[in-house]
Amino acid sequence: MMNHTYDPYENVLSVMDKAMEFGHIDTAMYGIIRSPQRETKVYLPVEMDNGTIQIFEGYRVQHSNIRGPFKGGIRFHQDCDLNEIKALATWMSLKCAVANIPFGGAKGGVKVDPSVLSKKELCRLTRRYTYAIEPIIGAESDIPAPDVNTNAQTMAWMMDTYSMLKGKPCPGVVTGKPLELGGSNGRTAATGRGVVICTRLLLESQGKTLKGTKLAVQGMGNVGSYTAKIAYDLGAVIVALSDVSGGIYCEAGIDPYKAAAFLESGHLLKDYQAPGVTHISNRELLLCDCDVLIPAAMENQIDETIAEALKCSCIVEAANGPTTAAADEILAGRGITLLPDILANSGGVTVSYFEWVQNTQKMTWDDEKVNRKLETILTQAFLDLKEERETSGCSWRMAAYIIALRRMVQAEEMKGIAL
Ligand code: GLU
Repeated sequence: MMNHTYDPYENVLSVMDKAMEFGHIDTAMYGIIRSPQRETKVYLPVEMDNGTIQIFEGYRVQHSNIRGPFKGGIRFHQDCDLNEIKALATWMSLKCAVANIPFGGAKGGVKVDPSVLSKKELCRLTRRYTYAIEPIIGAESDIPAPDVNTNAQTMAWMMDTYSMLKGKPCPGVVTGKPLELGGSNGRTAATGRGVVICTRLLLESQGKTLKGTKLAVQGMGNVGSYTAKIAYDLGAVIVALSDVSGGIYCEAGIDPYKAAAFLESGHLLKDYQAPGVTHISNRELLLCDCDVLIPAAMENQIDETIAEALKCSCIVEAANGPTTAAADEILAGRGITLLPDILANSGGVTVSYFEWVQNTQKMTWDDEKVNRKLETILTQAFLDLKEERETSGCSWRMAAYIIALRRMVQAEEMKGIAL
């Protein structure tokens, strides 16, 4: 049964507390990094196309800037609330520490269903939100990026609004921008590419190969679609895909390029037809016969009931927080390997870091350089986790949290508390 009282912030805190104990992390220093540094809530008046005014609620939670400027995406979603954003901001701090890039963590969001807004309404909402959080963001202080239901266009509007307020172009204030406005080669595909790199490293560490491995991908947004396409290019068999309308399954494999093109032309997967393809629910996708399950949608997808019934041997978390803490225990008991979100989806923020570096240096790197550097960073992060896991005899998630907390605590200790 779905846990309706699920709280993602409680979830991340419970895992952090466990890692603190298991990894013997200094409790006083841990106390400092356990709570966010700042939570901002804003109310955004927006003129709708029909002339009425609607007030939207927005958030920006700045969890930690111990290791560098606050960093993290902005999501537009009808279920968005402060607690969810707090959890996502915390995951960003942990994620940047795992990838070992010099950023802290933050997250923002607006409670809105963007599918019912026109492009002009969306533009006005994005600009109003940027205006509201302008005092606390900046290339040296807090750098937003895309997340669920936001993209390069959203970042272009944010950068333009911020630059207008500052009276000069400020490309470094956001990442995930269009290439024309100082975006980085490889950024749009980066999170998916990172998921595939991590999946390949995990399989290789088990003596297997990505080629021929059966993958099921939940979610066909930016992360899910690039994950499926890049894995398919490398020879993986994509047995299942899904979007908000439901899933599709084909034991012989689905061509994700065809499915993505169908979605881009304004359709939903429930209407997708191809030889051998059958229609399944999102729940059936999670429980389908596959080797690696890749949740690439929202939080709280793999709960205890689902965990009991999964048929996969590995889970690679492309979404943030798709697995509950209680489900984690069940997976461990069943011997299902799980590669955690804070490693598996860190390719996005890693290439955001490259974008920020390129903006700072007024340089442009080509695709080859971006992808090579991404691979180097993720491989090192994977090896760090593997070593910690072997030394501590813990799960991949515990290893990731221990490494992240240790790095954050060490930075906090070196810095000291001035006031
Ligand atoms: N929203 C992405 C994430 O959850 C990317 C964040 C970023 O690039 O700052 O990791």
